[in-house]
Amino acid sequence: MRPESTDLTRMATTVASKIDLTKIRNIGFIAHIDAGKTTVSERVLFFTGMTHKIGNIDDGTTVMDFMDLERERGITIASAATATEWKNHQVNIIDTPGHVDFTAEVERSLRVLDGGVVIIDAVAGVQPQSETVWRQAERYSVPRMVFVNKMDRAGADFSKAVESLVRRLGANAVPIQIPIGAEADFHGMIDLVGMKAWVYESVDAVEAVEAPIPADMADEVAAYRANLVEKVSETDEDLLMAYLSDEEISNEVLATALRKATINLKVTPVMCGTALKHRGIQPLLDAIVDYLPSPLDVPAIQGTDPADGSELVRQPSVDDPVSVLIFKVVSDQHVGRLIYIRVYSGVLETGSTLYNPRTRNRERIGRLLRMHADRREEISSAGPGEIVTVIGLKDARTGDTLAANNNRIILESIEFPEPVLSVAVEPKTRSDQDKMDVALNRLADEDPTLRLSTDEETAQVVLAGMGELHLDVIVERMRREFGLDVNVGSPRVAYRETVTRISEAQGRLVRQTGGHGQFGDCTLRLEPLPVGAGVVFESEITGSTLPREYYRPIEQGAREAAANGVLAGYPVTDMKIVLTDGSYHEVDSSEMAFNVAGSMAFKSAAQRAGMAILEPIMKLEVITPSEFLGDVLADLNSRRSQIQNMEGQNETQVINAFVPLAETFRYATDLRSRTTGRASFVMSLDHYDKAPRHIADDIAGSGK
Ligand code: GDP
Repeated sequence: MRPESTDLTRMATTVASKIDLTKIRNIGFIAHIDAGKTTVSERVLFFTGMTHKIGNIDDGTTVMDFMDLERERGITIASAATATEWKNHQVNIIDTPGHVDFTAEVERSLRVLDGGVVIIDAVAGVQPQSETVWRQAERYSVPRMVFVNKMDRAGADFSKAVESLVRRLGANAVPIQIPIGAEADFHGMIDLVGMKAWVYESVDAVEAVEAPIPADMADEVAAYRANLVEKVSETDEDLLMAYLSDEEISNEVLATALRKATINLKVTPVMCGTALKHRGIQPLLDAIVDYLPSPLDVPAIQGTDPADGSELVRQPSVDDPVSVLIFKVVSDQHVGRLIYIRVYSGVLETGSTLYNPRTRNRERIGRLLRMHADRREEISSAGPGEIVTVIGLKDARTGDTLAANNNRIILESIEFPEPVLSVAVEPKTRSDQDKMDVALNRLADEDPTLRLSTDEETAQVVLAGMGELHLDVIVERMRREFGLDVNVGSPRVAYRETVTRISEAQGRLVRQTGGHGQFGDCTLRLEPLPVGAGVVFESEITGSTLPREYYRPIEQGAREAAANGVLAGYPVTDMKIVLTDGSYHEVDSSEMAFNVAGSMAFKSAAQRAGMAILEPIMKLEVITPSEFLGDVLADLNSRRSQIQNMEGQNETQVINAFVPLAETFRYATDLRSRTTGRASFVMSLDHYDKAPRHIADDIAGSGK
């Protein structure tokens, strides 16, 4: 080994000794809008001592929601990571947005956190959107617990909330705490693991004191404790034996088994409190440390070798080669691009140079920062499991891997959905055009679900995104953050086209102009594939009919023609393109000629392929007071909806439906006026489906 590398190894070990991975928690608060996520985050920052003033969402002074817009709307849009400390542990809080239009943001947060706290409202219980994020967390196998917030509200009901977790989410929800009192009388919690009561002695107390378990709660406590012991025992063989033979199970043994069961996704511990009144937050922090995983408790990260696609694994260890995933890019007016990363293995050091397999370039790590709620700490290295930001990267984007140049890897990337809706925008003042370009490029740099393009006919800039609200927010941000007023065109749905029949055609380019001619000839067959399959290209040509070097230009020509659409200019997808035959000319054939032949063959095959339009279908859930049910349903019917089911809960009805995106414009406003603002809804892309004939004809008729 060369002397320099020995030095490096030694340095890494010194740094390593400072990092105790068991003392890191990367967590996120996951919640339906309004459940209290911002308030909980604020209180956590308060109690961990990082902020000394209590921010309050109602008067718009929160620390976590740093963007003005979020403050005004009271919703959290972008995800930021904040480092805090609790009982000798570094608790990194990864903020997750609450609105369903931003599920891509939720997904990328879920990708880098190790554990989640799902916050639900003690009155409303599990709400539709909690279901969406719950399923996402499940997909990423994120261990989680639940905080039943707003125990102080009129109508707060802890056991009903727990029941809704079981019924609506199928969670193995196990209370590890129960409330003492409820609504205005909520004044403490009983810890079912430690079997202790904590009581807030005065109306405005924020620190609980230990107290005896109230005598009138003894039976209830015994029943809940028995339930806890039983549920945890079911996940652990040794414990089950002890439990079945009626042995006493110590609190320590129970806590250890509970931690294991939570991390293995077998049990979801449930706690309670009221963030608004600062109650239940310290026990929640204790539980985060006690029961949620450290970076060592989650499986090692998988990846592939960029050279040959073979599978690779990186352990969360300082001895493995360094690997890092970028999960967020934010432009900061002072320092430029702030790149949020998670280190998965090895030690990342300032001044080092890492390889980015997407750009095939190396980039130098300029500065490293740890982000606290109220300050940025300059650091010189970060170890496995740490979440920090890098400054000074030029080409890196969200989802990129950075890794040691001599140990290259691509970590499982973050998948972002394709945009479903677009609008054309132009500045109100012509001279603002350049300013708008700068603003939009910056916004798109931060948001991988926002795409920019130019309409060739009108030369207008087109924004494409995940829904009406998503694009509204972008327009608002241009106004606020960049002082730009823009005119916004009417929204356009991102339709797609597809083939419904097998068809085959030849494309032949023969051009003889004076000297050198052009010759390309190929035959393509189109076959329908299931919705979501994309475009697949393959060749059936055998022998020496056509030299291999012409396959690629044919494929490119066909794909380009497909991208431009056949019926109405929307990309053709969900089909297989098969190259079945071709011929060439020794002198006149060129890649360009085959590119054109591929395009011609595709276009002519498509004429006979029974082209159809696919439209995005949204999943919609409406919650309305029963008295408006008729009105809401009538409106949904006029929007070509398919009602999936309806569920009555007391005075409230929940309707689940599929609605074509094209029929959902201004739904928020319409629903508000029909129900005097008392109904609410969530909506997200579910799938693409064939548009009915008359609609398809309309679209094709007005196309491009
Ligand atoms: P988010 O949308 O999930 O971030 O929720 P917020 O933290 O913004 O809270 C939504 C609303 O609920 C705000 O008006 C809060 O003041 C209120 N809220 C939050 N926590 C509590 C609580 O424990 N009790 C009561 N009564 N209200 C709360």
